[in-house]
Amino acid sequence: MAYEEYWHRPQSDDLGRIVIPVELRHLLSINTGDGLEIWQEDGAIAICKYTPACLFCGGSEGLERYKSKLICRDCLGRLAALCYPEEGNSALDG
Ligand SMILES: [Zn+2]
Repeated sequence: MAYEEYWHRPQSDDLGRIVIPVELRHLLSINTGDGLEIWQEDGAIAICKYTPACLFCGGSEGLERYKSKLICRDCLGRLAALCYPEEGNSALDG
């Protein structure tokens, strides 16, 4: 079953809950207890598995949060070097 082929019409209950069908959870590697992200986009509700990653490179190591966005230390260092080239990467040391 390809991702684009899957179509389901769940009904929400009194608390607004819906069930993500097991086939879709398997397809998207969503396991019991996994975190999810839910947002609104163009009048639709989008749901995806929460996988923390750097906003710029997609890496998952050494993540720092800035204004709700995750940035890895490598990208943060490169940004600091762009903003403060005379200081090199010393902005990360403090
Ligand atoms: Zn990064």
